[in-house]
Amino acid sequence: MSKQASLGTALITGASSGIGAVYADRLAARGYDLILVARRVDALKKLADELAARNGVGVQVLQADLTDAQDTAKVEAVLRDNAHITLLVNNAGTATLGAFAQADIAALAREIELNITAPTRLTRAVLPGLLARGKGAIVNIASVMSLMVQPGNTVYGGTKAYLLHFSQVLAQETAGTGVQVQVVLPGATRTEIWGKSGGPAIEHLPPEIVMETDDMVDASLAAFDQGELVTIPSLPDAADWQRLIDARNALLPNLSRNKSAARYGVNG
Ligand code: NAP
Repeated sequence: MSKQASLGTALITGASSGIGAVYADRLAARGYDLILVARRVDALKKLADELAARNGVGVQVLQADLTDAQDTAKVEAVLRDNAHITLLVNNAGTATLGAFAQADIAALAREIELNITAPTRLTRAVLPGLLARGKGAIVNIASVMSLMVQPGNTVYGGTKAYLLHFSQVLAQETAGTGVQVQVVLPGATRTEIWGKSGGPAIEHLPPEIVMETDDMVDASLAAFDQGELVTIPSLPDAADWQRLIDARNALLPNLSRNKSAARYGVNG
């Protein structure tokens, strides 16, 4: 029995380390029951035992490789069938950085499965229930790399740009339903992901651009409480983001017309 049964159950993917483990800690402290998903079941069980003991909430562990269709289907079934679920945190992800011409295409295909297909499927599984119950939330962990058009970042940044676009459209489709959508764009955050990315070791990054994981998640949850859709934890002035949206919207009247632009010189 949870401390505050009304908060319901949060399912967090990638809860065995890093950002997902801190979300688990903070959401348990708030009184959510939890379902923790990842491949490293021992780490999940250890965290589950600690959080249940410390917070008096129910914590279940669900081992799944979210690049595996059958495993993903198990998680989808839970999200579809468990009417206590009020929050999905799509956090599991990998970051493969490096020049595309030399990249391991199988690893990139798995990254697309994990970073794009899995959150898409899990969101599709949970959303009808949340809408029917008229409450709940979906939090997608994207990245500021979605905004960084630079060498080495073809696929990872692309997967996170997908999640940003997906979340922005989903928020429009769910407006007024009681279902909240948030997409979080962390900058460099001190987790294990850097050691596996093929990019620079986190110790070699300028310290002023690296955020501690606790701070990153606490800021994102504060933004969640404020109902913010797009959260960039380190961005000092939210108006800077709004200027980007305004510039994008200013393109809209000319994105699709019946004549090509004069500079191409092909209009009779
Ligand atoms: P992390 O410590 O490496 O955590 C990644 C999590 O994803 C782990 O729990 C891992 O668990 C899980 N995962 C990886 N492959 C999986 C698979 N095939 N199936 C299921 N779960 C899988 O790194 P993190 O930084 O916390 O990453 C969390 C999210 O934050 C990612 O989406 C990442 O892109 C995003 N992000 C991170 C940063 C940063 O600088 N750290 C910045 C921006 C965005 P198992 O290995 O146990 O499966």
